[in-house]
Amino acid sequence: MHWMRKVYKNFAAYYIRGDVVKFTNETQYSTQDLKKVFDAVSRHEGIKPPSLRVFTAKVPKWCAPTCFSTVVRGAAWRLSKHIDIGIPKHLLDVKAGVQGASSIVTVPLKELDSDQVRTVARVYSHELAHIRGVAKHKDMIPWTSYDVDYLGDARVRLKQPKKSRDIKQERYIKALDKVKAYRTKLKRDTTLLNKWLRKVKHYEKNIGL
Ligand SMILES: [Zn+2]
Repeated sequence: MHWMRKVYKNFAAYYIRGDVVKFTNETQYSTQDLKKVFDAVSRHEGIKPPSLRVFTAKVPKWCAPTCFSTVVRGAAWRLSKHIDIGIPKHLLDVKAGVQGASSIVTVPLKELDSDQVRTVARVYSHELAHIRGVAKHKDMIPWTSYDVDYLGDARVRLKQPKKSRDIKQERYIKALDKVKAYRTKLKRDTTLLNKWLRKVKHYEKNIGL
């Protein structure tokens, strides 16, 4: 019995046909770093990477942060070309007892530690086995014992916050450019206008108006 069987229905929507390798990262972790890990596993397994969606798996507050290793989720249909991986936030709000009363302490997110990186790689590796056509877990060795030493010291850091664009500054600079462009145009048009006015005066004189 697959322990993920009951959520298969929800994941079915992400099934993608064809050979398109698509990587969707909905987590706080660096896409580049995650890709390196998944690529290393695919290479090691000698399989063309399927499309992959990585999302933030919810962790019940009462078990964060210690339950990390058991809640990296993976789901893949047998012989499909798509895998879903759920990675919990490294640290959620941690319940800390303060003199009998409990309070929620928010701990900032950290990069995944090496055990967590390995867990993610093992889960992905396990799903690759399904992609290859292995249906039954009794036909596989338990994913927890997969050797992923080939990962070396692969890291999965946090995404760098995007530099927020200064829209007001950008619009101001754009307006200055427009002013400059129209001034140049105005100058050129004035020169041309004067030239044609001179011609008109010249002709009027000739005609004797
Ligand atoms: Zn499985």
